[in-house]
Amino acid sequence: MLDMTPKEVKERQALRINPCKTCQPVGAMYCALGVHRCMPLSHGSQGCCSYHRTVLSRHFKEPAIAGSSSFTEGTSVFGGRSNVTTATKNIFDIYNPDIIAIHTTCLSETIGDDLASYIMDMDLPEGKRVIHCNTPSYVGSHIYGFANQMKGFMDQLTEKTGTTNGKTAIFPGWVDPGDLREMKRIAEMMNVPITMFPDQSGVMDAPMTGRYEIFPEGGTTIDEIQSLGDSQNLIALGEVINQEPAEMLKKRWQVPFELLPMPVGVSNTDKYVMALKKISNAEVPPELEAERGRLMDFLLDSNQYTNRKKVAIFGDPDVVIGLTSLCLEAGMLPKYVITGTPKEMFTKRVTALFEAYDVQEECKAKANADLFELHQWIKNEKVDLLLGSTYGKQIAKAEDIPFVRAGFPVMDRYGGTIQPIVGYAGAIRMLEKITEAIMTRMERDMHDEDFEIVM
Ligand code: SF4
Repeated sequence: MLDMTPKEVKERQALRINPCKTCQPVGAMYCALGVHRCMPLSHGSQGCCSYHRTVLSRHFKEPAIAGSSSFTEGTSVFGGRSNVTTATKNIFDIYNPDIIAIHTTCLSETIGDDLASYIMDMDLPEGKRVIHCNTPSYVGSHIYGFANQMKGFMDQLTEKTGTTNGKTAIFPGWVDPGDLREMKRIAEMMNVPITMFPDQSGVMDAPMTGRYEIFPEGGTTIDEIQSLGDSQNLIALGEVINQEPAEMLKKRWQVPFELLPMPVGVSNTDKYVMALKKISNAEVPPELEAERGRLMDFLLDSNQYTNRKKVAIFGDPDVVIGLTSLCLEAGMLPKYVITGTPKEMFTKRVTALFEAYDVQEECKAKANADLFELHQWIKNEKVDLLLGSTYGKQIAKAEDIPFVRAGFPVMDRYGGTIQPIVGYAGAIRMLEKITEAIMTRMERDMHDEDFEIVM
């Protein structure tokens, strides 16, 4: 007979099994792809760059362009100055971007390459720019890399002229192009002129026109990044990823900011809408109110299926915080909530949500966790649903748990990146997926006698 007694799950300090994160340069690369006519340049070995491009391309189903300074054994010993200088020249000569965003990798960090001084000595073509950031991958996660690249752009491009540009800067955090479009749509409905930074919509979901453009229409322009210091204010969506970039914009260029959770779910979207309303003084338009009303109606209708259903949620911190909020709004029990990113703010935010819904005794949250640990927890007490990236697929299969894919990366499904999970519309979409997964499982497990009519 199987022994079903819960087993002790030991704490591990120095070992990650099935990580719930990827490396810093992936984040730097994705951030740089959100800048118009920008070519990311990976300063390290070709293998790193190939991996980073592959993981992005498999999620977005789009080519993720990037160059590599192609370290060899010699470069590792004598330093990467010559390689990165040649790579920069070749990229401008061959691909003609407006800007190159260089990020480091483990190897170039370990040998201590000083990118700032290398760039200073470069002979750049007229009007072209090169910026950099440090992304050692033995620290943090791709979320750190994204934030570091944002800070790199601002540090080396942003200015303050003293005249306001009349715009609100929006830092959207790590989201898909569908989410960026939804955030922009809501800002437009609320009559707030914005600068979205970075903005991968139109780049990582470029429309098929029959002609390949290496630099599609989308992306925040260099002018817009320069002008961020003249923004009236900033709404930073995603507390974990955006805390440092938002603080930098305030400290360096005195732009006041509101740091909000990613607008996933009703209350988080309400916070975004209210922040916009505070800026424009505009009334919330009836179309947006109606969207919210439809979401509330859906939450009520589906509650009989979602109520008290146990869900395990994993992935990037801000997306997971948002999904946890949505699941709680749907009456579910977010039994296990983890991220691989080592940020204690994550645990605090999720625990605060547990307390607000009075489920803190039944649920647990952990930052810097991995999927092996999540699997062990699930083996001790099963959940009704798994919610997260493709990397949870094997757990779902092994434990026979319905699985809804969300977050990054989702490599084994199509179309997700062009649709939102943010805003009221995004919440409706996620709730539909969740309810459908739960109902499909109920139907599978029903027996004929469940339908027996008592005479
Ligand atoms: S060596 Fe470092 S930067 Fe390169 S792929 Fe591995 S973790 Fe990422």
